[in-house]
Amino acid sequence: MEYDIIVVGGGHAGIEASLAAARMGKKTLLVSMLAEQVGATSCNPAVGGLAKGHLVRELDALGGEMGLLTDEAGIQYRILNAAKGPAVRGSRAQIDMDKYRIAARNVILNTPNLDLLQETVEGLLYEEQTVTGVRTNLLNEYRAKRVILTTGTFLKGVVHIGEVKQTAGRFGEFSAENLSDSLRALGLKVGRLKTGTCPRVDSKTIDFSVMEQQPGDELPSPFSFRTDRETFAETKQQLPCYIAYTNEDTHGIIEGNFHRAPLFTGQIEGIGPRYCPSIEDKINRFRDKDRHHLFIEPQTEENTECYINGMSTSLPPDVQQAMVHSVRGMENAKIVRYGYAIEYDYVDPTELKHSLETKKVHHLFLAGQINGTTGYEEAAAQGLMAGINAALSLDGREPLVLGRDEAYIGVLIDDLVTKGTKEPYRMFTSRAEYRLLLREETADIRLGKYGHDAGLIDDATFEKFEAKRLQIEEGAALINATEYTPNKEFLAFLESIGEERVTDKISAQQLIARKSFTREKMLKLLPELSKYDPYIQEQIMIDAKYARYVEKQLDEIEKMKKNISIKIPEGFDFASVKGLSNEIVEKLKTFNPPTLQAASQISGVTPAAIEILHIYIKMAQ
Ligand code: FAD
Repeated sequence: MEYDIIVVGGGHAGIEASLAAARMGKKTLLVSMLAEQVGATSCNPAVGGLAKGHLVRELDALGGEMGLLTDEAGIQYRILNAAKGPAVRGSRAQIDMDKYRIAARNVILNTPNLDLLQETVEGLLYEEQTVTGVRTNLLNEYRAKRVILTTGTFLKGVVHIGEVKQTAGRFGEFSAENLSDSLRALGLKVGRLKTGTCPRVDSKTIDFSVMEQQPGDELPSPFSFRTDRETFAETKQQLPCYIAYTNEDTHGIIEGNFHRAPLFTGQIEGIGPRYCPSIEDKINRFRDKDRHHLFIEPQTEENTECYINGMSTSLPPDVQQAMVHSVRGMENAKIVRYGYAIEYDYVDPTELKHSLETKKVHHLFLAGQINGTTGYEEAAAQGLMAGINAALSLDGREPLVLGRDEAYIGVLIDDLVTKGTKEPYRMFTSRAEYRLLLREETADIRLGKYGHDAGLIDDATFEKFEAKRLQIEEGAALINATEYTPNKEFLAFLESIGEERVTDKISAQQLIARKSFTREKMLKLLPELSKYDPYIQEQIMIDAKYARYVEKQLDEIEKMKKNISIKIPEGFDFASVKGLSNEIVEKLKTFNPPTLQAASQISGVTPAAIEILHIYIKMAQ
């Protein structure tokens, strides 16, 4: 059988890659080990979170599926950091993990041009350094013009629970034992990483009455720009989560069993996610803390089983039992599934171009956890981009590469392919230098055009995105054109809305930028804005509050784009530049780039390093 594109692996990356490819008109095959595990959430049943919510919104604006699936399967929605600045707020949803899988599989099976096949890919077919298809465990060979690997934690996967060690891609599932050998044979650099998950507990054995309840937002916001906000807020049924705490007993049990923890006995060699440590790692590093938060989260709408967020562990089963029982409210809890750690092969992402095609093997794209990331959202974002770029390349079109100033997805891919990663990489708002430009709520305005160009966002949806952009621009124009003189009437108005007096002329923008200025006050100041729906009013207000900072960031970007063409003098002594790491200096010396632009394209040379170099070059002139 001959396909345009074959996607290997039906996880979060594979779902997006295969749907994008098929929707862009390419005859696509999704091969995955187990059809019912397409869209499985290996770890916690939740989508989004800080910075991860941004990725999902961006993926949605580009025509990806994760936002829609989350709206269908979600059982609790919260905007995290709601009290902080809008740039760092993040949407998060608890999902029904079974419903999510079923919804994902149904979309795949109902998409024209897309076949789903339950087989395991054992190796790649290639001629010289060009991939031509895949070979499976059933000895079938499938040919394709492009192949996208999205194999997650399954390449030579080994799970650990205490002294027990088994080959598995996820607990109870086969591991892909041979595929990474094909990658090694093709000259790709393959490494080893580790991650872990927590025990799941039978909900009826938990005493929720002694725990703190954590409800969803009163008016839940959907993830997808294509979901109707009002209907969603009115109809979505939500479940609460609960907060519990570890205590001295828990810590004592864990510490007393360090000698049985695969993490410390040398049984696990792969490097784990620094920001998502196991409970034994937390106790080891922060022994002085007298308690750690645990979030008790429902796994399905029926809430028969709970995920103990914060208790990721690979300690032996008897220790897991004891530590769960030590927590108030879980004294009699019964574990349904034990926590475990998993080690797996990944490919050094500096092997990739920004399009996610490998540099050494033509027509081979990689996306998701195989590239050293962790998280469903990071995987899905890469999957979508790999799907789009594989399809574009078949049409002889330029790849879609998003800038760091355009999208978190741009930051994610740029970080991976230029810096690589030695530990599981997750997204943070702090990784984005231009985060004020990259608010969740502007993803449709920023990226909808790319999704539309690719054929993944239909005309009607794109018109809605454009209408939103125009309304926000209209509101901003009104605000920017309005100024007030501190006459008697205006001062009385300020007093009536409880705002401080002014002595000089003041613009509407300056007033709205005040912390105390709410949407209600803005509407009193400029009643013309009342014609927009409250969601648009909110966006207009946020834009006005951030206008000055955004202007500054846009100036910086402009300057950086100009600076990048600056020549590096011949014989320039890179070692004399203070503030560059030895690794960067070595790379610059080796490649001797003629311009800052060329320097910025060397893997591992960061935008911050370019800034420093620029200062030194200016000083040398
Ligand atoms: P996956 O979701 O792993 O999907 C890979 C798919 O490919 C699977 O369907 C598999 O069957 C299929 N496949 C693999 N090889 C082959 C093959 N050769 N042939 C056919 N099909 C194949 N993320 C976090 O953000 N935080 C966490 O704390 C966290 N903990 C985790 C704990 C565990 C134990 C595991 C397993 C994962 C954890 N993750 C965590 C990671 C999260 O699950 C992944 O980041 C995410 O699922 C990656 O998506 P993916 O599409 O790259 O791969």
